[in-house]
Amino acid sequence: MRMLRTIAEVRAHVAAARSAGRSIALVPTMGAFHAGHEALMRAARDACDEVIVSLFVNPVQFEDASDLDAYPRSEVEDAAIAARLGVDALFAPSAREMYPRGFATSVRVAGLSDVLEGAARGAGHFDGVCTVVCKLLCIVAPDVAYFGQKDAQQVVVVRRMVRDLDLPVRIEVVPTVRDFDGLALSSRNSRLAPEDRARAVALRRGLGVAEDAIAQGERDPARARAAGRAAMTAQGVDPEYFAIVDPDTLGEVERIAGRVLIAVAARVGPARLIDNVLVDTQEVATHDEWAPTSQRSSHVHPAPT
Ligand code: AMP
Repeated sequence: MRMLRTIAEVRAHVAAARSAGRSIALVPTMGAFHAGHEALMRAARDACDEVIVSLFVNPVQFEDASDLDAYPRSEVEDAAIAARLGVDALFAPSAREMYPRGFATSVRVAGLSDVLEGAARGAGHFDGVCTVVCKLLCIVAPDVAYFGQKDAQQVVVVRRMVRDLDLPVRIEVVPTVRDFDGLALSSRNSRLAPEDRARAVALRRGLGVAEDAIAQGERDPARARAAGRAAMTAQGVDPEYFAIVDPDTLGEVERIAGRVLIAVAARVGPARLIDNVLVDTQEVATHDEWAPTSQRSSHVHPAPT
């Protein structure tokens, strides 16, 4: 696996792959790899000839400097994981390489960036995400870029940006990979002390209770939200938000009908965690991913032995 540090190195690497007729996948990440990242890399490996993973803890998407400082970093281990999965190149640039002196541009997707995570983390969060994703898509110019359903709003915002800016890339979404008890895998989980780790399952539990209420016929979002919130509070976790929204516009729904996204965020000890499920009242079963039925359900990470 090649380790690339500069934009010039990436461009040369991609040009060589292109001239050999190879299709190119990009998997943007902030590192500290877990099975969620691995699922994205595997999907890319299965679909494309050349897999490029970017590893960059993007400072401009952190509104909170202490969160940026505390973000886990493990580049040597990450490189070993990527190599084992057959990744062709890991692009791990410095902040100076991505944001040289005088950098002055920001990409903003209005509206979609301002709700849920945007409201909670600050309006600049998704501007930072879009700016770095736009740069990565311009640097690598992949055929396909892979994102996780775990960050549902990021998918919606990035898809809008790609459409609005006519970026010639296909966005693929990989189902959320969960730990044995349902907790969505996240680099931030490593910051949880054992008692916080036990409480963290409250997010998935709350989503599950709201899902069940909908499956049993509840169509009033306020009541489904209240049931989900109560299940979380009972486990000692107060949600920062617990929302039932349209999965395309992220607007609150007045009545639950068709596809809805249930999204939650909560602080558990030192970590701020998010999770979501997609529910479709037209389908018999509910699910937590935008994936063909055949690909669902095998994404639970086994319990540690
Ligand atoms: P991050 O390094 O946290 O920025 O994540 C990089 C990519 O991995 C993003 O597209 C995330 O949505 C995705 N991702 C993170 N955690 C998971 C998970 N548990 N399951 C699936 N994808 C994930």
